[in-house]
Amino acid sequence: MLLRHTNKEIKPRESLTVNPAKTCQPIGAMYASLGIHNCLPHSHGSQGCCAYHRSALTRHFREPVMAATSSFTEGSSVFGGQSNLIQAIDTIFTTYEPDVIAVHTTCLSETIGDDVNQIAIKAVKDGKVPKGKYVIHTSTPSYVGSHVTGFSNMTKAMATAFSKSTGVSNGKFNIIPGYVEPSDMTEIKRVVKEMGIKPILFPDTSNVLNGPQTGKYKMYPDGGVTIEELTSAGDSIGTIALGNTASADAARALDTRCKVPCQVLDLPIGLAATDRFINTLRTVAGVNVPASIDLERGQLLDIITDMQAYLYHKKVALAGDPDQLIPLVEFLISIDMMPVHIVTGTPGKDFVKRIEALTADLPYKVNVKAGGGADMYLLHQWIKNEPVDLLISNTYGKYIARDEDIPFMRYGFPIVDRVGHSYFPSVCYKGGMRLLEKILDLLLDRIDRDSLEETFELVM
Ligand code: SF4
Repeated sequence: MLLRHTNKEIKPRESLTVNPAKTCQPIGAMYASLGIHNCLPHSHGSQGCCAYHRSALTRHFREPVMAATSSFTEGSSVFGGQSNLIQAIDTIFTTYEPDVIAVHTTCLSETIGDDVNQIAIKAVKDGKVPKGKYVIHTSTPSYVGSHVTGFSNMTKAMATAFSKSTGVSNGKFNIIPGYVEPSDMTEIKRVVKEMGIKPILFPDTSNVLNGPQTGKYKMYPDGGVTIEELTSAGDSIGTIALGNTASADAARALDTRCKVPCQVLDLPIGLAATDRFINTLRTVAGVNVPASIDLERGQLLDIITDMQAYLYHKKVALAGDPDQLIPLVEFLISIDMMPVHIVTGTPGKDFVKRIEALTADLPYKVNVKAGGGADMYLLHQWIKNEPVDLLISNTYGKYIARDEDIPFMRYGFPIVDRVGHSYFPSVCYKGGMRLLEKILDLLLDRIDRDSLEETFELVM
């Protein structure tokens, strides 16, 4: 038993977190920055954070993850990191030649109160930012929110740093895809284009963190939203933000700045949430849903029908990020599975309210918690008190799955013990089919493993 110290008896905890279901803001900001073409993320703080965040992203995506750091020393921690950042900007533009440096902060620079905006202005005045190059920045204090908050803050920064309203429509829609895999971004773009709509998707890590092996290292891969696209986002017809926690702030900031009307939707995970996404695209753009999308929806529905007997009333425990968990729980309920324990380390009352609303009509009480104390330890305690048939979480759930002998579906961020997940989507109808296939494989593998010789079936 790896987690033999997990106690079945749940006692109130105020200060102690054990095995958190989140990580800190800068990693999300770094991930978002990588979704800009020719951009180098920059971590303003001591270099340990930057090394950890790069390695966490590399372990998840199995790709090189580039980022620079201000490398604070004790001196800069006392007297401020201005000279570190200005030196860094100079060195980065000279040596690594990005078009954009996207600066986020760490808890160190936030605690000492560095004014990154003022430092960035000084860097321009001092001639450290070459013509046609940019420094954008956001505050990402790690003691507020989670990695999703950091992603949201950097996405908002990229929305407001470049966008301009010329008064002439570009005929496009901005899509803010949220904190999802690069493959999900590809899938969202494909579906939007299939609907006959031209998207500006930002951030866009497709072909950056799931790129091809060509035999040549490219520091700035081909993918990512371009500066021209971000500038033009101010002339778009509208913005659709997917995921309230990760994307809403950027969409609203763009609306305030350039009067681009926005709608905030759930991530299109599962049948109903994808239906809402498609329907919104249809109505805002005034287009018809093409037969190809109808076909994909029908295929997902067919798979749900075929699988119904195996999925019915299977109990599920989930841990992850709020934007993923809300539509995922809705999806599980719609296919008659039973989400019973749900935690997200990302704080926010809205999450608990949404889950309570989604599960209000169920004939059982769902355990749900967000923020402080909503960790993997609590999830494990809940599972000990009421066992489940399936656990869905990032890699860290594998300890619980092993100890309690539960089928385990890796989902979310980070997944550091399996390879290839960033190449296959979980969103929209096709992603829904993949999720169902993964779930059913796990449940049937368990039946195969546990069945006696005389009940071991060929056809299931
Ligand atoms: S919590 Fe603070 S010190 Fe730790 S990695 Fe995050 S930013 Fe760095």
